[in-house]
Amino acid sequence: MAARKKRSLSLFLDKFDDIVPDGMRELVAETDAEIWKEVDCTECANCCKKMTPTYLKSDIDRISTHLGITRREFRDRWLRKEAESGDWINVSLPCQFLEDNKCSIYDVRPKDCADFPHHTKKSFDQYNETFKNNLEYCPATLMLIDRLRIIVEEGYEWPM
Ligand code: SF4
Ligand code: SF4
Repeated sequence: MAARKKRSLSLFLDKFDDIVPDGMRELVAETDAEIWKEVDCTECANCCKKMTPTYLKSDIDRISTHLGITRREFRDRWLRKEAESGDWINVSLPCQFLEDNKCSIYDVRPKDCADFPHHTKKSFDQYNETFKNNLEYCPATLMLIDRLRIIVEEGYEWPM
């Protein structure tokens, strides 16, 4: 992605720190539904290659049971605890469960993976920082924010 485009989309997202146009939640949901008709995650898998999920205790329980190993074996083999947040994350990238560009534990994957890229998880202004970070790697987020920018900038006058 061109750095200039990423910068301009980040600036657009910054505006939501201060003000959110009426109807934004509905617009995001509508636009999100549209972009998923065009994005195929199985052709991409960038999030599995470039980012680590965070593992909840329930994720670790479920996946280690699925793999037939103990929770400790699972953590010792693949995870580390992030110092700042205390979250369990992958030691290395791409994710150890990515095989032939597909998730080999898809049915029991971490909740964070199942929910990614979190487009409609929270109200838009609460999640714009996350979107800024994900613009770099997630084509779906890039498409969503690009479309929103066009729609919002055409129909909404930002206060100066
Ligand atoms: S667990 Fe599966 S979906 Fe999650 S990052 Fe790893 S390969 Fe991707
Ligand atoms: S980076 Fe985005 S588009 Fe690519 S696989 Fe992950 S969620 Fe799907």
